[in-house]
Amino acid sequence: MNSNTVLANIEKNHKGEDEFIQALREVYLDVAEYEKNISKEDINSFFTLFSEPDRTIKFKVEWFDDQGKLQVNRGYRVQYNNCLGPYKGGLRFHPSVNESILKFLGFEQVFKNALTDMPMGGGKGGSDFDPKGKSEQEIIKFCKSFMEELQKYIGADVDVPAGDIGVGTREIGYMYGHYLKLTNHYTGVLTGKHPNFGGSCGREEATGYGAVHFANFALKEHKKSLKGQRVLVSGSGNVALFAVEKLIEQESVVLTVSDSGGTLFFKEGIDKEMLERLKKFKFKRHGRLKNFDSNGLGSYMESKSPWSLEAEIAFPCATQNEISGEDAKKLVSNGVFCIVEGANMPLDDNAQEVVMAKDVIYLPGKAANAGGVAVSGLERTQNATYKSLTSERVEKLLCEIMKEIHDNCLKYAPKNNGVVNYKAGANLYAFNKVFETSKFLRW
Ligand code: GLU
Repeated sequence: MNSNTVLANIEKNHKGEDEFIQALREVYLDVAEYEKNISKEDINSFFTLFSEPDRTIKFKVEWFDDQGKLQVNRGYRVQYNNCLGPYKGGLRFHPSVNESILKFLGFEQVFKNALTDMPMGGGKGGSDFDPKGKSEQEIIKFCKSFMEELQKYIGADVDVPAGDIGVGTREIGYMYGHYLKLTNHYTGVLTGKHPNFGGSCGREEATGYGAVHFANFALKEHKKSLKGQRVLVSGSGNVALFAVEKLIEQESVVLTVSDSGGTLFFKEGIDKEMLERLKKFKFKRHGRLKNFDSNGLGSYMESKSPWSLEAEIAFPCATQNEISGEDAKKLVSNGVFCIVEGANMPLDDNAQEVVMAKDVIYLPGKAANAGGVAVSGLERTQNATYKSLTSERVEKLLCEIMKEIHDNCLKYAPKNNGVVNYKAGANLYAFNKVFETSKFLRW
Protein backbone atom coordinates (compact mmCIF):
# COMPACT_ATOMS: atom_id res chain seq x y z
CA MET A 1 0.00 0.00 0.00
CA ASN A 2 1.43 3.42 -0.83
CA SER A 3 1.19 6.52 1.39
CA ASN A 4 -1.89 7.86 -0.35
CA THR A 5 -3.77 4.59 0.08
CA VAL A 6 -2.86 4.35 3.77
CA LEU A 7 -4.00 7.89 4.48
CA ALA A 8 -7.13 7.49 2.34
CA ASN A 9 -8.09 4.33 4.27
CA ILE A 10 -7.51 5.99 7.62
CA GLU A 11 -9.58 8.99 6.51
CA LYS A 12 -12.36 6.70 5.36
CA ASN A 13 -12.39 4.81 8.65
CA HIS A 14 -12.45 8.00 10.71
CA LYS A 15 -14.95 10.08 8.75
CA GLY A 16 -15.95 13.26 10.53
CA GLU A 17 -13.03 13.08 12.98
CA ASP A 18 -11.28 16.06 11.40
CA GLU A 19 -8.95 17.02 14.24
CA PHE A 20 -7.80 13.42 14.68
CA ILE A 21 -7.06 13.00 10.97
CA GLN A 22 -5.23 16.36 10.96
CA ALA A 23 -2.93 15.29 13.82
CA LEU A 24 -2.26 11.84 12.37
CA ARG A 25 -1.67 13.10 8.82
CA GLU A 26 0.93 15.60 10.04
CA VAL A 27 3.03 12.91 11.74
CA TYR A 28 2.53 10.39 8.93
CA LEU A 29 3.63 12.77 6.16
CA ASP A 30 6.81 13.79 8.00
CA VAL A 31 7.70 10.16 8.70
CA ALA A 32 6.94 9.10 5.11
CA GLU A 33 9.12 11.91 3.76
CA TYR A 34 12.13 11.83 6.05
CA GLU A 35 12.42 8.36 7.64
CA LYS A 36 15.06 6.48 5.69
CA ASN A 37 15.93 3.53 7.96
CA ILE A 38 12.52 1.90 8.23
CA SER A 39 10.81 0.34 5.22
CA LYS A 40 7.74 2.03 3.75
CA GLU A 41 5.83 -1.17 4.37
CA ASP A 42 6.65 -1.15 8.11
CA ILE A 43 5.79 2.56 8.36
CA ASN A 44 2.46 1.98 6.67
CA SER A 45 1.48 -0.97 8.82
CA PHE A 46 2.51 0.94 11.96
CA PHE A 47 0.20 3.84 11.10
CA THR A 48 -2.64 1.55 10.13
CA LEU A 49 -2.39 -0.14 13.54
CA PHE A 50 -1.77 3.13 15.34
CA SER A 51 -4.82 4.85 13.87
CA GLU A 52 -6.95 3.16 16.54
CA PRO A 53 -6.52 3.93 20.24
CA ASP A 54 -6.19 0.91 22.55
CA ARG A 55 -9.66 1.74 23.88
CA THR A 56 -12.16 4.56 24.28
CA ILE A 57 -14.26 4.61 27.42
CA LYS A 58 -17.49 6.60 27.19
CA PHE A 59 -19.83 7.20 30.08
CA LYS A 60 -22.75 9.21 31.38
CA VAL A 61 -22.18 11.91 34.00
CA GLU A 62 -25.28 12.92 35.98
CA TRP A 63 -25.32 15.81 38.43
CA PHE A 64 -27.82 18.20 40.04
CA ASP A 65 -27.49 21.91 39.29
CA ASP A 66 -28.16 24.65 41.89
CA GLN A 67 -31.85 24.67 40.95
CA GLY A 68 -32.09 20.97 41.79
CA LYS A 69 -32.49 20.04 38.14
CA LEU A 70 -30.82 16.84 36.92
CA GLN A 71 -28.15 17.47 34.26
CA VAL A 72 -26.44 14.95 32.00
CA ASN A 73 -23.05 15.23 30.29
CA ARG A 74 -20.81 12.88 28.36
CA GLY A 75 -17.58 11.68 29.95
CA TYR A 76 -14.68 10.03 28.10
CA ARG A 77 -11.24 8.54 28.53
CA VAL A 78 -9.24 7.65 25.43
CA GLN A 79 -6.45 5.24 26.43
CA TYR A 80 -4.41 5.69 23.30
CA ASN A 81 -1.24 3.65 23.71
CA ASN A 82 0.72 2.30 26.68
CA CYS A 83 3.88 0.83 25.14
CA LEU A 84 6.10 3.45 26.82
CA GLY A 85 4.34 3.44 30.20
CA PRO A 86 0.92 3.80 31.83
CA TYR A 87 -1.53 5.97 29.88
CA LYS A 88 -0.84 9.59 30.79
CA GLY A 89 -2.55 12.79 29.74
CA GLY A 90 -5.00 15.44 30.82
CA LEU A 91 -8.75 15.79 31.28
CA ARG A 92 -10.49 18.59 29.43
CA PHE A 93 -13.86 20.07 30.49
CA HIS A 94 -15.16 22.17 27.61
CA PRO A 95 -18.34 22.16 25.49
CA SER A 96 -16.26 21.40 22.35
CA VAL A 97 -15.08 18.05 23.75
CA ASN A 98 -15.99 15.05 21.61
CA GLU A 99 -14.36 11.80 20.54
CA SER A 100 -12.42 13.31 17.62
CA ILE A 101 -10.87 16.02 19.80
CA LEU A 102 -9.90 13.54 22.51
CA LYS A 103 -8.51 11.07 19.98
CA PHE A 104 -6.34 13.78 18.43
CA LEU A 105 -5.18 14.89 21.88
CA GLY A 106 -4.50 11.27 22.95
CA PHE A 107 -2.56 10.62 19.73
CA GLU A 108 -0.47 13.81 20.20
CA GLN A 109 0.12 12.89 23.83
CA VAL A 110 1.74 9.55 22.93
CA PHE A 111 4.31 11.38 20.80
CA LYS A 112 4.73 14.27 23.22
CA ASN A 113 5.37 11.90 26.12
CA ALA A 114 7.85 9.93 24.01
CA LEU A 115 9.85 13.12 23.50
CA THR A 116 10.31 13.55 27.27
CA ASP A 117 12.09 10.16 27.52
CA MET A 118 9.99 9.46 30.63
CA PRO A 119 8.07 6.17 31.08
CA MET A 120 4.64 7.44 30.07
CA GLY A 121 2.16 6.24 27.44
CA GLY A 122 -0.54 8.54 26.09
CA GLY A 123 -4.20 9.16 26.78
CA LYS A 124 -6.70 11.96 27.12
CA GLY A 125 -10.15 12.39 28.56
CA GLY A 126 -12.75 14.85 29.67
CA SER A 127 -16.30 15.95 29.19
CA ASP A 128 -18.48 18.35 27.22
CA PHE A 129 -19.35 19.95 30.60
CA ASP A 130 -18.92 23.73 30.47
CA PRO A 131 -17.42 25.08 33.72
CA LYS A 132 -18.04 28.69 32.56
CA GLY A 133 -20.62 30.36 34.80
CA LYS A 134 -21.02 27.32 37.09
CA SER A 135 -21.07 27.78 40.87
CA GLU A 136 -18.46 26.15 43.11
CA GLN A 137 -21.09 23.65 44.31
CA GLU A 138 -21.95 22.69 40.74
CA ILE A 139 -18.26 22.15 39.89
CA ILE A 140 -17.88 19.94 42.98
CA LYS A 141 -20.96 17.88 42.12
CA PHE A 142 -19.84 17.43 38.52
CA CYS A 143 -16.26 16.43 39.47
CA LYS A 144 -17.53 13.84 41.96
CA SER A 145 -19.94 12.29 39.51
CA PHE A 146 -17.26 12.23 36.78
CA MET A 147 -14.81 10.46 39.10
CA GLU A 148 -17.42 7.95 40.22
CA GLU A 149 -17.24 6.39 36.76
CA LEU A 150 -13.63 7.24 35.78
CA GLN A 151 -12.14 5.57 38.90
CA LYS A 152 -12.99 2.16 37.46
CA TYR A 153 -10.48 2.60 34.66
CA ILE A 154 -7.48 4.44 36.17
CA GLY A 155 -4.64 3.66 38.59
CA ALA A 156 -1.09 4.79 39.40
CA ASP A 157 0.34 2.07 37.11
CA VAL A 158 -2.62 1.89 34.70
CA ASP A 159 -3.71 5.36 33.62
CA VAL A 160 -2.82 8.65 35.32
CA PRO A 161 -4.98 11.63 34.27
CA ALA A 162 -4.12 15.28 34.95
CA GLY A 163 -5.59 18.68 34.06
CA ASP A 164 -6.11 20.45 30.74
CA ILE A 165 -8.51 23.21 29.61
CA GLY A 166 -11.18 23.69 32.31
CA VAL A 167 -9.42 21.38 34.77
CA GLY A 168 -6.90 22.91 37.18
CA THR A 169 -5.65 22.25 40.72
CA ARG A 170 -9.14 22.96 42.11
CA GLU A 171 -10.92 20.34 39.95
CA ILE A 172 -8.09 17.80 40.39
CA GLY A 173 -8.51 18.30 44.17
CA TYR A 174 -12.26 17.56 44.10
CA MET A 175 -11.69 14.51 41.88
CA TYR A 176 -8.80 13.20 44.00
CA GLY A 177 -10.84 13.69 47.18
CA HIS A 178 -13.66 11.65 45.75
CA TYR A 179 -11.30 8.95 44.44
CA LEU A 180 -9.92 8.64 47.96
CA LYS A 181 -13.43 8.32 49.45
CA LEU A 182 -14.37 5.64 46.91
CA THR A 183 -11.21 3.53 46.95
CA ASN A 184 -9.26 4.40 50.11
CA HIS A 185 -6.08 4.33 47.98
CA TYR A 186 -3.73 7.26 48.59
CA THR A 187 -1.70 6.83 45.40
CA GLY A 188 -0.40 8.89 42.49
CA VAL A 189 -3.50 8.20 40.41
CA LEU A 190 -3.80 11.83 39.28
CA THR A 191 -1.16 14.49 38.72
CA GLY A 192 -1.57 18.22 38.99
CA LYS A 193 -2.54 17.78 42.65
CA HIS A 194 -1.96 20.49 45.23
CA PRO A 195 1.42 20.00 46.98
CA ASN A 196 -0.43 19.50 50.32
CA PHE A 197 -1.62 16.10 49.13
CA GLY A 198 1.15 14.82 46.91
CA GLY A 199 1.27 17.36 44.09
CA SER A 200 4.54 18.65 42.69
CA CYS A 201 5.72 22.19 43.24
CA GLY A 202 5.88 24.01 39.93
CA ARG A 203 3.28 21.88 38.11
CA GLU A 204 0.95 24.82 37.38
CA GLU A 205 3.78 26.90 35.96
CA ALA A 206 5.41 24.02 34.06
CA THR A 207 3.74 24.18 30.61
CA GLY A 208 4.13 27.95 30.20
CA TYR A 209 7.64 28.11 31.69
CA GLY A 210 8.67 25.04 29.68
CA ALA A 211 7.53 26.62 26.40
CA VAL A 212 9.70 29.67 27.10
CA HIS A 213 12.72 27.48 27.96
CA PHE A 214 12.18 25.61 24.70
CA ALA A 215 11.97 28.90 22.78
CA ASN A 216 15.24 30.02 24.40
CA PHE A 217 17.07 26.89 23.25
CA ALA A 218 15.61 27.03 19.73
CA LEU A 219 16.37 30.74 19.32
CA LYS A 220 19.93 30.21 20.58
CA GLU A 221 20.31 27.52 17.91
CA HIS A 222 19.48 30.28 15.37
CA LYS A 223 21.68 32.90 17.08
CA LYS A 224 18.68 34.88 18.26
CA SER A 225 17.09 35.54 21.65
CA LEU A 226 13.83 36.53 23.34
CA LYS A 227 15.26 39.75 24.76
CA GLY A 228 13.49 42.86 23.52
CA GLN A 229 11.21 40.94 21.15
CA ARG A 230 7.53 41.86 20.98
CA VAL A 231 5.44 38.78 21.74
CA LEU A 232 1.78 38.02 21.05
CA VAL A 233 0.30 35.56 23.54
CA SER A 234 -3.19 34.10 23.16
CA GLY A 235 -5.17 32.59 26.02
CA SER A 236 -5.25 33.57 29.69
CA GLY A 237 -5.23 30.21 31.46
CA ASN A 238 -2.23 28.87 33.29
CA VAL A 239 -0.26 28.01 30.11
CA ALA A 240 -0.61 31.58 28.81
CA LEU A 241 -0.11 33.49 32.04
CA PHE A 242 2.93 31.50 33.19
CA ALA A 243 4.42 31.85 29.70
CA VAL A 244 3.93 35.61 30.10
CA GLU A 245 5.66 35.46 33.51
CA LYS A 246 8.74 33.71 32.10
CA LEU A 247 8.77 35.96 29.02
CA ILE A 248 8.86 39.07 31.24
CA GLU A 249 11.87 37.51 33.03
CA GLN A 250 13.57 37.18 29.63
CA GLU A 251 12.90 40.90 28.98
CA SER A 252 10.48 40.26 26.14
CA VAL A 253 7.69 42.78 25.58
CA VAL A 254 4.42 40.84 25.90
CA LEU A 255 1.69 42.71 24.04
CA THR A 256 -1.43 40.55 24.47
CA VAL A 257 -3.47 37.97 26.31
CA SER A 258 -6.90 36.80 25.15
CA ASP A 259 -9.96 34.72 25.96
CA SER A 260 -12.90 33.49 23.91
CA GLY A 261 -14.46 36.99 24.07
CA GLY A 262 -11.52 38.98 22.67
CA THR A 263 -7.95 40.25 23.11
CA LEU A 264 -6.47 42.63 25.66
CA PHE A 265 -3.69 44.66 23.99
CA PHE A 266 -1.01 46.44 26.02
CA LYS A 267 0.90 48.85 23.76
CA GLU A 268 3.79 49.16 26.22
CA GLY A 269 3.79 45.50 27.23
CA ILE A 270 2.52 43.69 30.34
CA ASP A 271 4.61 44.36 33.45
CA LYS A 272 4.92 42.19 36.56
CA GLU A 273 2.32 44.13 38.49
CA MET A 274 -0.26 43.88 35.71
CA LEU A 275 0.46 40.16 35.40
CA GLU A 276 -0.21 39.62 39.12
CA ARG A 277 -3.55 41.40 38.71
CA LEU A 278 -4.38 39.30 35.67
CA LYS A 279 -3.51 36.10 37.57
CA LYS A 280 -5.74 37.06 40.49
CA PHE A 281 -8.56 38.02 38.14
CA LYS A 282 -8.36 34.84 36.06
CA PHE A 283 -7.34 32.19 38.62
CA LYS A 284 -9.27 33.37 41.69
CA ARG A 285 -12.29 35.12 40.21
CA HIS A 286 -12.53 33.25 36.90
CA GLY A 287 -13.40 36.60 35.27
CA ARG A 288 -13.75 37.53 31.58
CA LEU A 289 -11.05 39.83 30.13
CA LYS A 290 -13.79 42.16 28.92
CA ASN A 291 -14.41 43.07 32.58
CA PHE A 292 -10.73 43.39 33.59
CA ASP A 293 -9.70 46.79 34.88
CA SER A 294 -6.27 47.52 33.33
CA ASN A 295 -5.94 51.06 34.75
CA GLY A 296 -6.33 52.39 31.22
CA LEU A 297 -3.13 50.64 30.09
CA GLY A 298 -4.74 47.95 27.97
CA SER A 299 -7.27 48.21 25.18
CA TYR A 300 -9.84 45.46 24.73
CA MET A 301 -10.39 44.23 21.18
CA GLU A 302 -13.84 42.61 21.25
CA SER A 303 -14.16 39.31 19.30
CA LYS A 304 -10.60 39.71 17.94
CA SER A 305 -7.60 37.41 18.19
CA PRO A 306 -4.06 38.83 18.65
CA TRP A 307 -2.90 37.68 15.18
CA SER A 308 -3.35 40.94 13.25
CA LEU A 309 -0.90 42.90 15.44
CA GLU A 310 2.74 43.64 14.67
CA ALA A 311 5.32 41.59 16.60
CA GLU A 312 8.33 39.29 16.26
CA ILE A 313 7.15 36.18 18.13
CA ALA A 314 3.77 34.47 18.68
CA PHE A 315 2.84 32.12 21.52
CA PRO A 316 -0.58 30.57 20.74
CA CYS A 317 -1.58 29.22 24.18
CA ALA A 318 -5.37 28.95 23.83
CA THR A 319 -6.65 25.95 21.85
CA GLN A 320 -6.51 23.81 18.68
CA ASN A 321 -6.77 25.43 15.24
CA GLU A 322 -6.80 28.98 16.64
CA ILE A 323 -4.47 30.19 13.84
CA SER A 324 -5.80 29.85 10.28
CA GLY A 325 -3.87 30.20 7.02
CA GLU A 326 -5.02 33.82 6.74
CA ASP A 327 -3.89 34.58 10.31
CA ALA A 328 -0.52 32.99 9.57
CA LYS A 329 -0.07 35.15 6.46
CA LYS A 330 -0.81 38.27 8.53
CA LEU A 331 1.61 37.21 11.25
CA VAL A 332 4.43 36.64 8.79
CA SER A 333 3.81 39.89 6.91
CA ASN A 334 3.70 41.76 10.24
CA GLY A 335 7.19 40.53 11.16
CA VAL A 336 6.68 37.33 13.19
CA PHE A 337 9.73 35.06 12.69
CA CYS A 338 9.07 32.50 15.44
CA ILE A 339 5.92 30.66 16.60
CA VAL A 340 5.88 28.70 19.86
CA GLU A 341 2.90 26.41 20.44
CA GLY A 342 1.84 26.50 24.10
CA ALA A 343 -1.50 24.92 23.12
CA ASN A 344 -1.99 21.57 21.40
CA MET A 345 -2.19 21.92 17.58
CA PRO A 346 -3.06 25.67 17.54
CA LEU A 347 -2.04 26.02 13.86
CA ASP A 348 -4.40 24.49 11.33
CA ASP A 349 -3.08 22.70 8.21
CA ASN A 350 -3.04 25.88 6.10
CA ALA A 351 -1.28 27.90 8.78
CA GLN A 352 1.40 25.22 9.11
CA GLU A 353 1.94 25.29 5.37
CA VAL A 354 2.34 29.09 5.37
CA VAL A 355 4.86 29.20 8.21
CA MET A 356 6.92 26.26 6.88
CA ALA A 357 7.11 27.88 3.43
CA LYS A 358 8.24 31.19 4.93
CA ASP A 359 11.03 29.64 7.04
CA VAL A 360 9.49 30.72 10.34
CA ILE A 361 11.12 29.08 13.37
CA TYR A 362 8.13 26.91 14.19
CA LEU A 363 8.14 25.12 17.56
CA PRO A 364 5.39 22.47 17.58
CA GLY A 365 3.29 21.85 20.68
CA LYS A 366 4.25 18.25 21.17
CA ALA A 367 7.78 19.46 21.94
CA ALA A 368 7.32 23.05 23.14
CA ASN A 369 4.44 22.41 25.56
CA ALA A 370 5.74 19.10 26.95
CA GLY A 371 6.92 20.81 30.16
CA GLY A 372 3.53 20.23 31.80
CA VAL A 373 3.46 16.51 31.32
CA ALA A 374 7.19 16.33 32.15
CA VAL A 375 6.55 17.83 35.59
CA SER A 376 3.62 15.40 35.90
CA GLY A 377 6.28 12.73 35.33
CA LEU A 378 8.30 14.23 38.20
CA GLU A 379 5.13 14.19 40.32
CA ARG A 380 4.70 10.45 39.67
CA THR A 381 8.30 9.83 40.78
CA GLN A 382 7.76 11.87 43.95
CA ASN A 383 4.55 9.94 44.74
CA ALA A 384 6.20 6.57 44.11
CA THR A 385 9.20 7.36 46.32
CA TYR A 386 7.33 9.34 49.05
CA LYS A 387 9.70 12.27 48.61
CA SER A 388 9.04 15.82 47.50
CA LEU A 389 11.22 18.12 45.48
CA THR A 390 11.56 21.85 46.19
CA SER A 391 10.27 24.33 43.63
CA GLU A 392 13.87 25.38 42.84
CA ARG A 393 14.77 21.77 42.08
CA VAL A 394 11.67 21.29 39.88
CA GLU A 395 12.44 24.47 37.97
CA LYS A 396 15.99 23.34 37.33
CA LEU A 397 14.87 19.87 36.24
CA LEU A 398 12.20 21.37 33.97
CA CYS A 399 14.81 23.47 32.20
CA GLU A 400 17.07 20.41 31.77
CA ILE A 401 14.19 18.29 30.42
CA MET A 402 13.21 21.00 27.91
CA LYS A 403 16.84 21.08 26.73
CA GLU A 404 16.76 17.30 26.31
CA ILE A 405 13.51 17.48 24.32
CA HIS A 406 15.02 20.21 22.17
CA ASP A 407 18.11 18.12 21.52
CA ASN A 408 15.99 15.03 20.80
CA CYS A 409 14.25 17.01 18.05
CA LEU A 410 17.61 18.16 16.65
CA LYS A 411 18.78 14.54 16.29
CA TYR A 412 16.20 14.00 13.55
CA ALA A 413 15.41 17.50 12.29
CA PRO A 414 16.15 18.43 8.67
CA LYS A 415 17.05 22.06 7.92
CA ASN A 416 15.37 24.28 5.34
CA ASN A 417 17.36 27.38 4.34
CA GLY A 418 19.25 27.28 7.63
CA VAL A 419 16.06 26.98 9.72
CA VAL A 420 15.64 23.83 11.81
CA ASN A 421 12.45 21.90 11.00
CA TYR A 422 11.45 21.12 14.61
CA LYS A 423 8.10 19.72 13.46
CA ALA A 424 9.73 16.90 11.51
CA GLY A 425 12.40 16.49 14.21
CA ALA A 426 9.80 15.99 16.95
CA ASN A 427 7.65 13.68 14.84
CA LEU A 428 10.60 11.50 13.79
CA TYR A 429 12.19 11.18 17.23
CA ALA A 430 8.88 10.22 18.83
CA PHE A 431 7.87 7.90 15.98
CA ASN A 432 11.19 6.03 16.18
CA LYS A 433 10.87 5.60 19.91
CA VAL A 434 7.31 4.27 19.77
CA PHE A 435 8.00 2.14 16.67
CA GLU A 436 11.11 0.51 18.19
CA THR A 437 9.40 -0.10 21.52
CA SER A 438 6.37 -1.74 19.97
CA LYS A 439 8.79 -4.09 18.14
CA PHE A 440 10.41 -5.10 21.46
CA LEU A 441 6.96 -5.87 22.81
CA ARG A 442 6.06 -7.67 19.57
CA TRP A 443 2.95 -5.52 19.12
N1 GLU B 1 -2.83 18.39 29.49
C1 GLU B 1 -1.43 18.52 29.49
C2 GLU B 1 -0.87 18.26 28.11
O1 GLU B 1 -1.53 18.54 27.13
C3 GLU B 1 -0.74 17.76 30.62
C4 GLU B 1 -0.97 16.30 30.71
C5 GLU B 1 -0.40 15.65 31.99
O2 GLU B 1 0.19 16.31 32.80
O3 GLU B 1 -0.59 14.43 32.09
O4 GLU B 1 0.24 17.81 27.92
